[in-house]
Amino acid sequence: MTGPLRIGVLAIQGDFREHAGVLRRLGADPVEVRKPEQLDGLDGLIVPGGESTAISLLIRDGLEEGLRRFRGPVFGTCAGMILLGRDHLGLVDVAVRRNAYGRQVASFEADLDLEGEAVPLRGVFIRAPRVDVIGPGVEVLAEHDGEPVLLRDGRFLVASFHPELTDDTRVHERFLDMVRAEVMAGGGTL
Ligand code: GLN
Repeated sequence: MTGPLRIGVLAIQGDFREHAGVLRRLGADPVEVRKPEQLDGLDGLIVPGGESTAISLLIRDGLEEGLRRFRGPVFGTCAGMILLGRDHLGLVDVAVRRNAYGRQVASFEADLDLEGEAVPLRGVFIRAPRVDVIGPGVEVLAEHDGEPVLLRDGRFLVASFHPELTDDTRVHERFLDMVRAEVMAGGGTL
C-alpha cells in the first residue's frame, strides 16, 4: 500500500466531523463529501448520524445517484443506517424503524457484546432507529437486549449507535479492515 486510506465522510448534515476525527486518529485520510464528484477515487465512505429526513432531501441533487454508484465499502451510523436501509437507498437489506425507542429512553448508553471480542463496547444511542427485519445475507456483529445494533451486509457496515462519540475506535478499525481487504483485492485506488 502506498499511502493512507482515503475515506469519504458525507458532510451534508450531522456528526461528520467526529467521524473524520476518528479516521485521522487511525491514520486514514478523511475527505468531506458534499458533491458527487468528490466520491471519485475514495477507498471507502462513511454516512454519519444526524437527521435522516434532512440528509435524504439534501442528497437529491446528484449525490444520491453518486452513493448508489459508489462501489467501495460504506459505513453508516444511525441516520446513516436509515438512509442505507430498505426504505431509502435500499443498499443494505435491513428494515429500520426511526426513533423507535420510547421517549423516556430516547437516548442512552449501554455495554454491547462485540462479536469476537472479550471487552464490551460502549454504545451511545441517540434517538436511535431499531432494526426490525434483516435479510438472509446480513451478519449481526453486536446486539442490545437481543436486538441487532451493528450489522454487516457484504461491503456495508451499519450501526444504530454512534461509535464516533466514544474513545473506543474498534468499530472504525473493523471498517478500515474491510476497506483494506477491498483495496488488496483490487477494488480500490491504491
Ligand atoms: N433520529 C434520527 C433520524 O431519524 C437519527 C438520530 C441519529 O442519527 N442520532 O434520522
